[in-house]
Amino acid sequence: MAAVLSCRDVSKRYGRTQALDKVSLQVDEGEMVALLGPNGAGKTTLFQLLTGLFVPDSGSVEVLGADMRRNPVAALAHLGVVFQQPALDLNLTVRRSLRFHADLHGLPSSVSRPRIEALLQRFGLAASAGELGRKLSGGNRRKVELLRALLHEPRLLLMDEATVGLDPASRVQLLQEVLQAREERSIGVLWATHLVDEAQRAQRVIVLHKGTVRFDGTPQALCAAQGQETLEAAFLQLTGGERHAKAA
Ligand code: ADP
Repeated sequence: MAAVLSCRDVSKRYGRTQALDKVSLQVDEGEMVALLGPNGAGKTTLFQLLTGLFVPDSGSVEVLGADMRRNPVAALAHLGVVFQQPALDLNLTVRRSLRFHADLHGLPSSVSRPRIEALLQRFGLAASAGELGRKLSGGNRRKVELLRALLHEPRLLLMDEATVGLDPASRVQLLQEVLQAREERSIGVLWATHLVDEAQRAQRVIVLHKGTVRFDGTPQALCAAQGQETLEAAFLQLTGGERHAKAA
């Protein structure tokens, strides 16, 4: 299976805080990987490096073999991203907003227009296409952001705690949409979250804690490694447990 994301020995420091310390991880095509970490683990910092917003102090990030630092245009061309902070223009209609982003990607309208209409149908948003962004529910706004991230048919989708602020039903729905997009298009997904239930559906879980990778494997293997029945108990033992040990 080909790697769509490869991150090797990535480190990043803010003053005295070592936010990431030699983090290595890989996402293969068609694979859903959950990046699970408590607040402060370094998830946001990692996403900033994976999207080329900041450069690591050391280490490298490659998207489909294109180095994010040396060849950012090629690396970003394969990347779709939904950031934690909502970023939908509330004063544009959904369709206008999507067409604008398709133009930004340089997609000819003969390609983008039918693609947008098909995705609107597929996401159950066709009836809202003429509405202003501000008229949509929080869950549907996020779905539009997901749709927007898929417009240029990326091979890697990064979701940075994208369900923050959503009600439980909308959270489940967004996760479901991402799982389906992964299946239909065989894209690799890195889904960052601090919510264990969202990691349950992933094929692989990477636990990030205090800037280092503490576990990388299937949810079942994480439970087995920690001798716990549930993923939540295993995750808490792996992350919270150490806090108690240090305090002792
Ligand atoms: P997460 O997204 O998992 O909550 P972050 O990447 O936001 O984690 O933070 C990792 C660590 O780096 C934390 O200790 C945080 O306080 C610190 N940090 C993050 N961003 C900055 C910044 N811009 N300046 C200083 N420290 C930061």
